[in-house]
Parts: sequence; structure tokens; C-alpha cells
Amino acid sequence: MTNAKKAEMMVRCKNCIKRFEVKPKADKAKCPHCGVEYRISWPKPDLPYIRGLAK
Ligand SMILES: [Zn+2]
Repeated sequence: MTNAKKAEMMVRCKNCIKRFEVKPKADKAKCPHCGVEYRISWPKPDLPYIRGLAK
């Protein structure tokens, strides 16, 4: 069996415009580049989406 394509669970920080990885099903994620924390939603199981700031 071949592996399913590896999902890239990345979002783009709205503050510093850099991409960073989000843990699967996390509801929050912190940008490692600038330290801003975001709320994450999952339109699809392998597709994270930034909803807004975590605060
Ligand atoms: Zn950032």
C-alpha cells in the first residue's frame, strides 16, 4: 500500500505572513515566528483554518 499523501497542516500567520504547522485537531495554535496565538477551526480533518486571535 502506498501512503496517503502527507497532509501539510499549515496555516499562514496573519501577523507575520509566515507559515507554521498546526497540530491535528488543535483548537489553538501559536505562531513560532512572532508568538501570536490563534483560534483554529477545521473545515476538513486535514485542513486547519485560522478563525481569529485566541484572546
Ligand atoms: Zn507569526
